[in-house]
Amino acid sequence: MIVAMWENASEDQIQEVTNHLLKMGFAVHRTTGARQSVLAAVGKRIDFDTRELEVLPGVQTVHRISAPYKLVGRPFRPEGTVVRLPNGVEIGGKEVVVMAGPCSVESREQIFTSAELVAKAGAKVLRGGAFKPRSSPYTFQGLGLDALKLIREAGDHYGLLVISEVMEISQIELMQPYIDIFQVGARNMQNFNLLRELGKARKPVMLKRGIAATIEEMLLSAEYLMAGGNYEVVLCERGIRTFETYTRNTLDISAIPIVHKLSHLPITADPSHGTGRRDKVSPMARAAVAAGADAVIVEVHHQPDKALSDGAQSLFPEQFAKLMDELRMIAPAVGRKIA
Ligand code: PEP
Ligand code: MN
Repeated sequence: MIVAMWENASEDQIQEVTNHLLKMGFAVHRTTGARQSVLAAVGKRIDFDTRELEVLPGVQTVHRISAPYKLVGRPFRPEGTVVRLPNGVEIGGKEVVVMAGPCSVESREQIFTSAELVAKAGAKVLRGGAFKPRSSPYTFQGLGLDALKLIREAGDHYGLLVISEVMEISQIELMQPYIDIFQVGARNMQNFNLLRELGKARKPVMLKRGIAATIEEMLLSAEYLMAGGNYEVVLCERGIRTFETYTRNTLDISAIPIVHKLSHLPITADPSHGTGRRDKVSPMARAAVAAGADAVIVEVHHQPDKALSDGAQSLFPEQFAKLMDELRMIAPAVGRKIA
C-alpha cells in the first residue's frame, strides 16, 4: 500500500500515519521528495481497509497494491484452472463449453424436447431452473424437486450434464443427486452464508456476477467458495445494471479478459440475461467467444412464446443451431474449439 501525504503535512502527522501502519503489521519505507512524503507499507496482510488511512490527518491518497484476495488471484495458479466435469467435459480448457436450455423446467415434455434439441446442436450442459429467483412473487417460481428429477432424467437421456440454480442452504443437499454444477444466481452473489456452505460441497459452482457488483466483488465472492475448500469454481458474466434501458442488462464483455488477467478461474458469458432480448443474444454470444469466454450459457426454449419465464430472451431452436455453427467458426480464430 502506498500512502501519499499532503505537501503541508506535519512531521507529527507523518509519524502518526507511520505508527498506524506499523500497528497494522506493515513495514514502512518513507520517501521524502522535494515537496511531499510518501509512505510505502509492505507486508503480508490483505485484510485491511484503505479508508482507515485515508481518514487520518495529513493523508492525501492511498493506493492499494496487492489484491484483496489470495486464492482466486492469477498468481495462485498461473497456468489457469480447468474445471473437470463428470463426463470428461472441461471448462477452462481448449474447448468452449456451451450450456443451454430453458430458463425454468416447466414440464416433462418441455425439458425433454429442450434437452434433445440442445444436445443435437452440440451443447454439453443442460440448464433449467427448479428454484427461480423472480422479481415478482406472483410469477412462476419453479417446480422445485420435481424439476430436479425431470432435468436429471432428460440430461441423462441425451448425454448432457445438468446445471441448476441453488437459492438457499437448505437446497444444497436436496440438489446434490440431481445436478452436476450448482448455479449461484446474480441475486445471491453476496449471500455469504450460502457461499460458505457451497465451499464445503464437492461439486463445481458457477457463480454469477451480481446485478450491481464490481469484478473485484465477484472475485471476493469466489474467494469465499475457495476458502471453504471448493476449488471448482467457474465465474459468469451475466450483465450488470447501467443507465442503458434498451437492454435488460449491459453484458460487460470486458469482464472476460479482465477476469482472465486477475484470476485463474474460468469465466462463462450469459448473453440471455446479459441482454434480455432474443435478437441480441447471438451477437453477444459471438462477441463473448471472440473475447475469450471459456463457456457460454444460453436460454433456449422449443416454444419461447409460451415460456413461463424469460421467453423474450429465449432462442428458438433454429436460432440456437445457427448460433452453434457461428461459434464453431469463431472459436478457432481465438485458439479454441467447440464440439
Ligand atoms: C437464470 O439463470 O435463469 C437466472 C435467474 O440468472 P441470473 O441470476 O443471472 O438473473
Ligand atoms: Mn432466466
